[in-house]
Amino acid sequence: MLYDTVIIGGGPAAVSAALTLRARNKTAAVVSGGVDDIPLSRSHKISNYPGMPDVSGREMLLAMEDQARAAGAEIIRGRATSVLNMGDSFGVAVGADFCQGRTVILCTGVKAGNVFPGEKELLGRGVSYCVTCDGMLYRGKDVCLAGFTSDAEAEAELLRDMGCRVRLFTKKGAAYAVEGTDRVTGLRVGETVYPCDAVFILRSGTAPDTLLEGLEMDGAHIRTDGSLRTSVPGVFAAGDCTGAPYQVAKAVGEGNIAALSAAKYMEEPKE
Ligand SMILES: Cc1cc2nc3c(=O)[nH]c(=O)nc-3n(C[C@H](O)[C@H](O)[C@H](O)COP(=O)(O)OP(=O)(O)OC[C@H]3O[C@@H](n4cnc5c(N)ncnc54)[C@H](O)[C@@H]3O)c2cc1C
Repeated sequence: MLYDTVIIGGGPAAVSAALTLRARNKTAAVVSGGVDDIPLSRSHKISNYPGMPDVSGREMLLAMEDQARAAGAEIIRGRATSVLNMGDSFGVAVGADFCQGRTVILCTGVKAGNVFPGEKELLGRGVSYCVTCDGMLYRGKDVCLAGFTSDAEAEAELLRDMGCRVRLFTKKGAAYAVEGTDRVTGLRVGETVYPCDAVFILRSGTAPDTLLEGLEMDGAHIRTDGSLRTSVPGVFAAGDCTGAPYQVAKAVGEGNIAALSAAKYMEEPKE
């Protein structure tokens, strides 16, 4: 399905962008792992957001998602694993599924965890971010799952159902490295190497520059201009992923600006 805008991330910036796009009569899809994958859901009390005094993070996020859905935004459950620039639109892979946007707004929050040594080099050669897409390739084989999302246990179970021998690692602070030269041969966790044929990595957040080629970063943040345009025409960014202050109010404001910029971009004549 082709949407006017695919928004990646389901936090306050994403919902704000979706509401603004819908108000402009644009179609919008929000790709999100769900409320439990959003760090704010762990906050017991938020007291600095206007109009919602002393609400918990979970309550706020559930209300926001309901509001986006009621406004007509489509919520696509899952994690975007890549964004492909196709010239006049963008293809977004969400697990084994695919959706398309004339524009994209990245609302991916602060980067969750560093890329492991060896991860980028062996991506597609044993490293995978998608159990549903690649699990069957390793039927009867040893796989390691470094799972830092709320569905990690369920994904490990899915791999077992597919016939893989699975070791699940969930400790966020441990030193992980993917071993191998041409293909994955193991996962190092601290000093121990666990031999395996594949390493599946599930993070709730993604380093945005691993999603989309040509996206310029400024340290850990996406480089944007005052209209929240990124270095890739047609791609915008909003919220924590563009830099501090890491606050709901700033994320909501930027979601609104990025959506207005995306709407303007779609209305501009293209050569
Ligand atoms: C415990 C806690 C308490 C806080 N308390 C307050 C407070 O009281 N007041 C305040 O103003 N701020 C507070 N904050 C900060 C606030 O949560 C953030 O500033 C705000 O949520 C940023 O919104 P965002 O939409 O930019 O990003 P986020 O809310 O972080 O949402 C980004 C989402 O994108 C998802 N994502 C990333 N990559 C992908 C991908 N490839 N595919 C699909 N989804 C993806 C992430 O999983 C995440 O769910 C708190 C934060 C935490 C962690």
